[in-house]
Amino acid sequence: MSSADVTREILGNVPGWLVPWFYGVIFAAYASSAVIFVQRFRERRGATTAPSDRARVLDVIKYLTFHQKLLEDRFAGIAHLCTFYGFVALFMGTSIVFLEHSTPLHFFYGAFYLWASLFVDLGGLVFIVGLLMFLWQRYVSKRDRLLSRWWVATLTWLLLAIAISGFLLEGSRIAVDMPAFESFSVVGYAIAGALRFSGVENETALLWHRALWVGHAVVSSLFFALLPWPLFSHMVYSGASWGRRRTRPLAELRTSAPVLTWIDLMQTDACTTCGRCNEVCPAQAVGQPLAPRDIVLGIRQAVTEAGPSVSYADQVGRFSHDVIWSCTTCGACNQTCPVGIDVYDEIIDLRRGLVEQGTVPEAAEELFEGTAAEFNPFHRDNDERMDWAQGLGLPVARDGEAIELLYWVGCAGSFDPDGQSVSRAMVTILDHLDIPYRILGCRERCTGDPARRMGEEGLFQERARENIDLLASHSVRKVLTHCPHCYNTFKNEYPELGGAFEVEHHSQFLDRLIASGKLPVTEGGSQPLTFHDPCYLGRGNGETEAPRRVIDAVAGGERREMARHGRESFCCGAGGGAMWLDVQGKDRVENLRVKEAAETGARTLVTGCPFCKVMLESGQQSLEDDQRMQVKDLAELVAERLTPR
Ligand code: SF4
Ligand code: SF4
Repeated sequence: MSSADVTREILGNVPGWLVPWFYGVIFAAYASSAVIFVQRFRERRGATTAPSDRARVLDVIKYLTFHQKLLEDRFAGIAHLCTFYGFVALFMGTSIVFLEHSTPLHFFYGAFYLWASLFVDLGGLVFIVGLLMFLWQRYVSKRDRLLSRWWVATLTWLLLAIAISGFLLEGSRIAVDMPAFESFSVVGYAIAGALRFSGVENETALLWHRALWVGHAVVSSLFFALLPWPLFSHMVYSGASWGRRRTRPLAELRTSAPVLTWIDLMQTDACTTCGRCNEVCPAQAVGQPLAPRDIVLGIRQAVTEAGPSVSYADQVGRFSHDVIWSCTTCGACNQTCPVGIDVYDEIIDLRRGLVEQGTVPEAAEELFEGTAAEFNPFHRDNDERMDWAQGLGLPVARDGEAIELLYWVGCAGSFDPDGQSVSRAMVTILDHLDIPYRILGCRERCTGDPARRMGEEGLFQERARENIDLLASHSVRKVLTHCPHCYNTFKNEYPELGGAFEVEHHSQFLDRLIASGKLPVTEGGSQPLTFHDPCYLGRGNGETEAPRRVIDAVAGGERREMARHGRESFCCGAGGGAMWLDVQGKDRVENLRVKEAAETGARTLVTGCPFCKVMLESGQQSLEDDQRMQVKDLAELVAERLTPR
């Protein structure tokens, strides 16, 4: 047998009259999808806010090639990896057949034919394994996070139908004359052997081949026609969505957009409905009504019905208000989303829609009033801001005095008893260091963080500009704060408004000074400790190591990690105004968190945020007496261990 004979007749056994129909249907399926995609793209151009960026292309290639993000969930990641590469192999096989049949090129014979057949069959097998894994997690292991609407599994079933009909088609073709070289088509050859073994004659095999060819063509066309559908469309958009994911720190909010940007629109189409966001959401964990996936799917539906210019105020009508107010802005959904969707920014934009409508909960209204009239969210007279420091003789800056190091106390550090003890510990440390620093006293005002995260962008900008002007009038060189929310606002959000100040969180400040020997500390205590990463410090701004180094420098007891820590930490329940809004669920976020801390056997629960401290203290009530821990801020821990000079 010559090499030229090692091949097969393409579209053999298919009646000639059927071929134009076949091409017509495939073309129509492709064309209808293409028209919808082009239409969506054209509609979206009006909402474009971001320029194209070629630098992200490599990142997308890496993302698709290695699946590193998807593999964070090992089982689902492997299932997707198999499906993706299996699909690529099958698509390459179909393209080879198309080129051989419909162009003057002639290469599908001999050794190439054999190895291509083997490659495509193995690819098809891997493809089926991936699809079966997806079906397993849906129907056998029944993972909670999977969406249970009827249409969600259609993609998997349809792809499985394409793969199985393709193999049966191949098997029935080979079964007619069983050429030995077709053994390279390992799966098709095995099916052919089984058909022959079970007594299938040539005529029957030819008949089956023709019927299977029609079936395979129908399911394949259906697949292409359904590509613009929800979930199917992730196959087109997920790479692009990942490429356009936020590069800003997770805790940084975008300024409000009057309409959805084209990135928002593309990202709602990219949602795979996987539910990873729901799985990590603290609001979901305690039975509050928010499910981040529903936010994305709801916005997609709003866009489908009202067009891409649908306003935020129009979108909010799709959700109950408690859904929108349950978010703690912890950023876990954004971090875990395998296609890089910015769920948390969308939720804040929905809140902005509610503020625009004037329909906000009483707690939000009170917070806005307090922040506007009294310059703090605690609704306290701002002249009481220094009450915590009575008798300490703190160095309050004079008007216009240049400040080298500004200790920014923050509202929780000024008004909340748990926060005030952190401020006092900070003062002890600063005095011990004997370095020149200043505070602003009663001229300090809320950074605007809670108001911004509750949707009051105008109020945030008002407070922000006043603070920026005040700091500029003192030529502040560096800001030191023990509050991760203030830290985030100074570091990430004020620069956009013209306030670029160097800022350090106290964990970084303490770490730096301890490491350099400028802040001598003595290790002490023998009880185990654990550290709760504040969302706005760890996940939000990537600082997870400095606090741990500080603990290790001063604590004699073992430092133990909770199951979720570092960037994967679980929220305390305070952020995004949740401490004031207090949406009811079946449990409380802080209770779940302290339970996790208690499971480590730690006797001290350390954190680096005054809001976290309040919540973790409150959560202690949910523990058994013998599980309760001392809750301390890093500053309190260090202040107890200063080496006398
Ligand atoms: S930011 Fe946190 S609380 Fe808000 S939806 Fe995402 S995971 Fe849930
Ligand atoms: S938003 Fe992201 S994590 Fe959530 S369901 Fe969609 S793809 Fe999955």
